[in-house]
This record gives sequence, C-alpha cells and structure tokens, in this order.
Amino acid sequence: MAEHVQVPFADLHAQYLTIKTEIDTAISEVIRTSAFIRGPYVDKFEAAFADMMNVKHCVSCANGTDSLYIAMHALGVKPGDEVIAPAHSWISTTETITQAGGKVVFCDTDPVTHTIDTAKLGALVTPRTVGIIPVHLYGQPADMDPIMALAKTHGLWVLEDCAQSHLARYKGRLVGTFGNAASFSFYPGKNLGAMGDAGAVTTNDPELAKRMAMFARHGGLTKGDHQIEGINSRLDGLQAAILSVKLPHLPQWTRRRQEIAASYQTLLSGIDGVTLPTVAESREPVWHLYVIRHERRDALAAHLKGLGIQTVVNYPVALPFLPAYRSLGHVEADFPNAHRDQSRILSLPIFPEMTPVQMLAVADGIRSFA
Ligand SMILES: *Cc1c(COP(=O)(O)O)cnc(C)c1O
Repeated sequence: MAEHVQVPFADLHAQYLTIKTEIDTAISEVIRTSAFIRGPYVDKFEAAFADMMNVKHCVSCANGTDSLYIAMHALGVKPGDEVIAPAHSWISTTETITQAGGKVVFCDTDPVTHTIDTAKLGALVTPRTVGIIPVHLYGQPADMDPIMALAKTHGLWVLEDCAQSHLARYKGRLVGTFGNAASFSFYPGKNLGAMGDAGAVTTNDPELAKRMAMFARHGGLTKGDHQIEGINSRLDGLQAAILSVKLPHLPQWTRRRQEIAASYQTLLSGIDGVTLPTVAESREPVWHLYVIRHERRDALAAHLKGLGIQTVVNYPVALPFLPAYRSLGHVEADFPNAHRDQSRILSLPIFPEMTPVQMLAVADGIRSFA
C-alpha cells in the first residue's frame, strides 16, 4: 500500500505558486514607489472590487471585522438599538454590534442551510430593532427575499456579512447587492485572501459610502479635515496590490470550489451517517467551506486526522452559548438548530488547488469510518 495522501485543510502556498511572478512583481512595485498607505494601489483595488461585486462604492479597511463596525457606525447604531444576527457565525458578526453601541439579538439558524432562520425572524423585531445582519455562511446565501421584505415592513437596515461569500448568488443576483451595505473579509484563508489582514464594505448609497470612508480614516477624507472623530482602519498598499493581482482569478477559483463541492456530493453520497450540505432553491453557493454533519463528529475528525486529512469545526460553540454572551442568559432551547448543529458540523478540506487524488482520499477516509 502506498503512503497516505496528505490532505491539508487549505493550501495558501499552492495558490501563491500559481501566480508567483505577478505577486512578486506587484509587491516590488509597491515597495519601489513607497505607496504603503492609501495611494494608487488602494484606489485601483477599490474600483475593481466594486466593479466585480456590481456595486457603486467600495470602502476598503483593515479587516473584515472593522468593515462590520464601520458600516454599523455609519448606519447610525446608538445605545439601546437592537440588531438581529444569526446564532451561528464567526464572532465578528456580533461583537461589532456591541462595539457600535447596539444590543445583540440572536436568531436561530435554519436546520438545512445554517443561515438565519427567516421563519423565526419576525418574532424578534421590537420597537427598538434597527437592523438585521444576514450572514451568507460557508458561502451559501441567506434567504434574502423574506429578510428584505421584513426590513421594508419595519424600516430596518440590512447589512450583509459577505466574509465567506464573494460572488455567491441568490436568485441569480450577487450577494452584497441586496442590503444597505455589505461587509467583506480578505483574511488569507477567505475565497479572496490577502497576505495579511484586509477588508472592505460596499454599498450603492453614496452618502453612506462617504460616512464609512470618513469614519475609517480619522473622520476626514482629506488630510487635516476632521469632520468627525473616526478610527484608523486602512487597507495598506501591499495588500491592495496583492488583492488586485488575485481578483481577476476569483471567478475561476470560485468555479473550482463549485466543481470540488459537486465531486464531494457524488463521492460522499449514500455513506451511512453522513449528511451532506443542502443547497436551497435558487442559491449559488461559493463553498468557502464544505460542511457535512455527523452524529459522531469528533470520532470522525480523529479518524481522518489519523489518515493525514485535516478538518476543522466552524464553529464548535454557537455564539449565544459562548462565555462572551453568558450575560444574555440564553439556554439551549432558545436556539435548538444552532445548538444541535454545533456538535455535528465538520468542515472538509476545500480549496481551488485541491487535486482529484486528494478528494478521493477524503472520500475514502470518510467511507472507511462509516
Ligand atoms: C472572517 C469573517 C469575518 C471577519 O473577518 P476578519 O477579516 O477576520 O476580521 C466576519 N464574519 C464572518 C462570517 C467571517 O467568516
């Protein structure tokens, strides 16, 4: 028998090697021109990203977490305001609600898609509710039609958390184009990743774009002109140049993720105890993560690890049950779907450079456990 095929969870270096010359040239150019903060590389990336995401404005910033905070600050969140977010996400989605001065109101997740459960959303709206943050988790769009309808009825803003969903589509339309604003992360492992921290917020509203850009840059758009107090959250020139090199490759990398997910759906079908991801009607996910469910998740992960296959749990504890939110006093029964899923979900390796041999190794590994 041959050695086990090693399957990393992701392989950033493999991606770098495919575009090494372009990346190295771009980095040298930024260094040669000392364009480290703002400057032409940042402007160029903002324009190109807005274009690909089909929105009018892109305000870049230091990371995806800041993009959520900047957007909510500009949307005018104030003390006592309630913001509804899914019970299952990365903590950035909700820690920024508190940072902006608001109160986190969790909504359970849909048992099939892991996105916010729109059937439970309406009951959470109170006179103090100001906005909703749907998260297109794992790269699958949240059910935007009922979310936008509810927001319209109650006069709420919608901020789409697109950190995991660059180029995903809902009913043929790009995510990030439905709400008042959309936040993006370019953390290295995201579908579009920098070589360090980076983020952006997009919108079609010119006034909102201006307020967000101002807030991110010490409260002013030109040096010395501080209209308000702001923060320092800038995309740097090196990251912008790197992202500009990678952006044109994103559609093709996305297609690869979709092909790999399709292969997994075939290779893993009919294995006892394994629940495969379900794609809801009219959604085109971009598979930031490929998440299966299994009642004996931890044993399965350990079995795969023994075979040289890396897996991750995104995320092991749903947000309301984290120590950070203990003060809200939630119990398991408040979010039954998020609670049930937290012990069953397992993210399998998926990245554009993954080989068919690696895919087969993952499938064989899972089959040999069952
Ligand atoms: C990665 C991520 C963020 C935050 O992005 P950073 O760039 O790491 O700050 C926000 N929301 C979700 C759902 C994420 O996955």
